[in-house]
Amino acid sequence: MKRIINEMKLRLPAISVNESVCRSIISAFCAELNPTVEEIGDLRCAVSEAITNCIVHAYKGVSEMNPRYIYISARLYDTREVTVEISDNGCGIADVEAARMPSYTTGDGERSGMGFLVMESFTDSLSVKSKLGRGTTVLMRKSLSPERK
Ligand code: ATP
Ligand code: MG
Repeated sequence: MKRIINEMKLRLPAISVNESVCRSIISAFCAELNPTVEEIGDLRCAVSEAITNCIVHAYKGVSEMNPRYIYISARLYDTREVTVEISDNGCGIADVEAARMPSYTTGDGERSGMGFLVMESFTDSLSVKSKLGRGTTVLMRKSLSPERK
């Protein structure tokens, strides 16, 4: 059975500076598994897209009085698997299947609707769970290549 060798759980305000904060945190957290430059770049990109979604979309239309947090938790396994879960307590997504389609966006002209596709292509699996008015949780898994000697 696979064994957890490290784990973390963080709560951060949903503000744009925390996109780069989370990218750095995920690099540092995975460093003990000695990932390749490409693998670490993939994880940074995937995490960055999920965090950006929490910042840009999750709290749209939600009262200013509500707390606006992003929750990120990650695990490393002795099988060299990395899991990262990113969630919010925001507006939720009405149709997750539609939202995951390339080019689907409810954002302004600056959004291209490619975030979920990026998360999917840079990880081995992506699951998205969402409830309208309750929030969204994205779970990503990635297996790192065997360690180089
Ligand atoms: P891009 O990521 O290319 O800048 P985008 O954010 O619109 O554009 P996706 O990341 O693929 O594209 O997300 C698609 C749509 O899913 C978003 O436009 C938004 O409607 C919805 N969405 C994604 N994440 C969340 C979230 N955490 N809370 C609420 N809605 C979300
Ligand atoms: Mg996005």
